[in-house]
Amino acid sequence: MTHLSGPRDADLPPLAPAEFQRYSRHLILPHVGEAGQRRLKRARVLVVGAGGLGSPAALYLAAAGVGTIGLVDADVVDVTNLQRQVLHGTAALGRPKLDSAEARLQDLNPHVAIEKFPERLTSANALRIFRGFDLVLDGSDNFPTRYLVNDAAFLTGIPDLYGAIFQFEGQVSVFAVPGGPCYRCLYADPPPAGLVPGCAEAGVFGALPGVIGSMQAMEAIKLLLGIGEPLIGRLLLFDGLRMRFRELTLQRDPACPLCGDAPTVRALIDYDAFCGVLPAPSDPAELEVVPSVLQRELQDGRPVVLLDVREVPEWELVHLPGARLAPLSRLPGLARELDPASDIVAYCHHGMRSLQAATFLRSVGLHHVRSLRGGIDAWAREIDREMVRY
Ligand SMILES: [Zn+2]
Repeated sequence: MTHLSGPRDADLPPLAPAEFQRYSRHLILPHVGEAGQRRLKRARVLVVGAGGLGSPAALYLAAAGVGTIGLVDADVVDVTNLQRQVLHGTAALGRPKLDSAEARLQDLNPHVAIEKFPERLTSANALRIFRGFDLVLDGSDNFPTRYLVNDAAFLTGIPDLYGAIFQFEGQVSVFAVPGGPCYRCLYADPPPAGLVPGCAEAGVFGALPGVIGSMQAMEAIKLLLGIGEPLIGRLLLFDGLRMRFRELTLQRDPACPLCGDAPTVRALIDYDAFCGVLPAPSDPAELEVVPSVLQRELQDGRPVVLLDVREVPEWELVHLPGARLAPLSRLPGLARELDPASDIVAYCHHGMRSLQAATFLRSVGLHHVRSLRGGIDAWAREIDREMVRY
């Protein structure tokens, strides 16, 4: 079963003697062999994100001898990444992820080429970056980027190796292959903005991206070789806590705005707007309060309602005395229980979710809501140094 049109075997690049040794377990394997290995050597795979999913995926692609691996990522290595992002080590803290990824992958296999794109994937650069690759592996961690990867893959005619993780669960599929479904066929509408927390807010089991990212790499290598049954038209669901797999059948939706019979999406769009990501408030200064000012207000006896918009496990770890729990994901339902006249300060871990919460609450008529700048982490650093940080 061949899914990617490739050159005839005679046109494939030859293997060097050192490569024959390195790939010997592939060379003796049915379905791979020398022709398959040369096919991998010629292949070009783009990995979006050098994080939890991109780490194992890129490691296995490089080890397998995929000739060119493109990496898109603009972040630097943070200590909280190391619990799962196995491309990076402690020595790389503070360095660009692409630099530590390149060093690790070149050490693993000097026969492969690494192409670095040290930029955030956007509608403006995606088509330029995607062009020339045989397929794209989505290691992103947010909805706007998933729709962007899907659309750019479809528009450039390359498959989208999709993977996503949440806490203990993951999913894998192959989208944007001619005749098969795309991500929009599965999720026509993005979830309400801000109501699905990411890894930073919800936590993620460290070994989970190892499972899902490795499966994405496996599907990529199968597609490149044209072997087996790829996950086209199937969504594989993984529950790590119960250690169970389930599978859903997916079909291309004839009404899909991208891959359907009468498409309306013919170019990349504004994915933040599509996913309803709130624009930055016009004047954050007016919406925010810094920890020292909030401390003074509380000491002066101002009747401030402290609203903790983090999730329950974070609340259980540590919270401000007297605060009330109102997770961002349940805020629309809880908002009507709040007194529009009260003076509310929302806080979260670092001040992003609470800014969204404050913007949302103001939009539904609670005009005296502010957000604690820097979140409970800033409070722990500046006001209460005994407090647990995470
Ligand atoms: Zn579609």
